[in-house]
Amino acid sequence: MSRAQTATGYHPIIIGGGVAGLAAAVAACRRGQRPLVLEKGVQAGGRVRSTFARDAKQIIDNGQHALAASYHFTLDMLKTIGSDHLLETQAGLSVNYLIPGKQSFHFRSWRLPAPLHFALPLLIQGPLSNADRRQLIRWGLNFRKADPEQLRSLTVADWLEASGTTSNLTDLLWEPITLATLNTSTATASAYLLHRVLVQAFLASRAAGSLVLPGASLDEIFARPACRYIERNGGAVHTRQGAAKLNIQDGRVHSVTTANGENIAGQSFISALPPKALWRLLKSSDTDLAKGFTYLDQFDYSPIITIYFWLDKPLKLQFPAALVNSPIQWIFKLPKAMENTLHGYSIVISAADKEAQMDVSELLGLAVSEIEKYTGIHLRNDLGMDAAKVIKEKSATIDQTPASLARRPGYRTNVRNFFLAGDWVDTGLPATIESAVQSGVEVVELIGDG
Ligand SMILES: Cc1cc2nc3c(=O)[nH]c(=O)nc-3n(C[C@H](O)[C@H](O)[C@H](O)COP(=O)(O)OP(=O)(O)OC[C@H]3O[C@@H](n4cnc5c(N)ncnc54)[C@H](O)[C@@H]3O)c2cc1C
Repeated sequence: MSRAQTATGYHPIIIGGGVAGLAAAVAACRRGQRPLVLEKGVQAGGRVRSTFARDAKQIIDNGQHALAASYHFTLDMLKTIGSDHLLETQAGLSVNYLIPGKQSFHFRSWRLPAPLHFALPLLIQGPLSNADRRQLIRWGLNFRKADPEQLRSLTVADWLEASGTTSNLTDLLWEPITLATLNTSTATASAYLLHRVLVQAFLASRAAGSLVLPGASLDEIFARPACRYIERNGGAVHTRQGAAKLNIQDGRVHSVTTANGENIAGQSFISALPPKALWRLLKSSDTDLAKGFTYLDQFDYSPIITIYFWLDKPLKLQFPAALVNSPIQWIFKLPKAMENTLHGYSIVISAADKEAQMDVSELLGLAVSEIEKYTGIHLRNDLGMDAAKVIKEKSATIDQTPASLARRPGYRTNVRNFFLAGDWVDTGLPATIESAVQSGVEVVELIGDG
């Protein structure tokens, strides 16, 4: 038996088969290891999964997702597992802003060096007042001097106030970017994380700021090809096999007991669970062990609602469309592969604390009335709404505030052979797919073959 293998023959043992767990397993395979992923659910993918919506008779995702061309870890993984061709990448950021009572504004970044590719179309073509333009230029000059470490304790609202902004710029630029990337409103979102997003994506280069949209179901892009790749390379993904207990011996995790009573021994264990699920596992494992992780119970979560709908006639808009100052923030066109003969769309409501209290018919009513307000089109009367499906993800991501940023742990724990991955660990990125994949790749590098 090689050093990297154990009694089960698998190394490492990964608990949780979301994107982070799958990314860790793919990275382990690339190192020549044979990873085992233990997933509680009936399918891998976690928050990035797809299901068949029986009433709509369509495959739908667990919420609309958008990637960015700056997602280097994710794009590399998808290339490895052979599904990168299922992505649709914009040639430069392109967003159609719908503004109530005004003409819509189609933002397209220009073929110029950064940050002019982003700043000039906004300054020259954007629906801005002279005061907005002056503020934006002043903000841009200050941005270059900002020390990200000093932003750790600030909210986006604090940061904007200190560097000066107008309410129009907040509505048009800062609130939509912050909600879309941090799933938290500017009032409470972490300035440090927004700074990272701006540096890595929007202001890095024209290409890095492009949106990358799924051209197929998320399951076809992530979980299915990842599982095939892992199994082809000698690893395994066991679904319906949640971890129920970690067994500790001499300060190390010796084995994991699954919900169906199997004991799986290993050399190194990676938790790729969200904080809540990890906290439950630790509490049912060993109360002394749990004492070192009480911070897990202190994370708050932020909901995302996706409303899918299918129309008899097409909704003639440019997509993605951002609705300025509306509770429904984005409208996306679904990929052809998810449409059948109808025309399919999705609406996204991020940081949806208030909307999560509404029932399905209230949410559909809100979607119909907001789209009518912004476009003059009544979805039901004018285009024939054939089917709709509402997905409420109450814990879509952790709430990305300065306080939660300070709580995010590194990959190591005080148990020598027990490591953490997941979108919420301290990757320096917002809790997104890219953070999840980065954590999986980096934790496997850290463990090596030991
Ligand atoms: C509606 C919605 C929209 C989003 N939009 C975007 C977007 O546009 N762009 C973006 O980058 N990100 C987006 N995100 C965030 C993104 O989906 C997550 O950051 C990412 O999927 C997290 O992956 P993860 O592997 O860390 O966690 P998870 O996907 O939560 O994976 C954890 C896994 O662990 C399993 N599990 C739980 N308990 C146990 C146990 N005891 N034993 C074994 N397994 C267990 C779970 O079943 C799950 O499969 C969105 C999220 C949602 C919900």
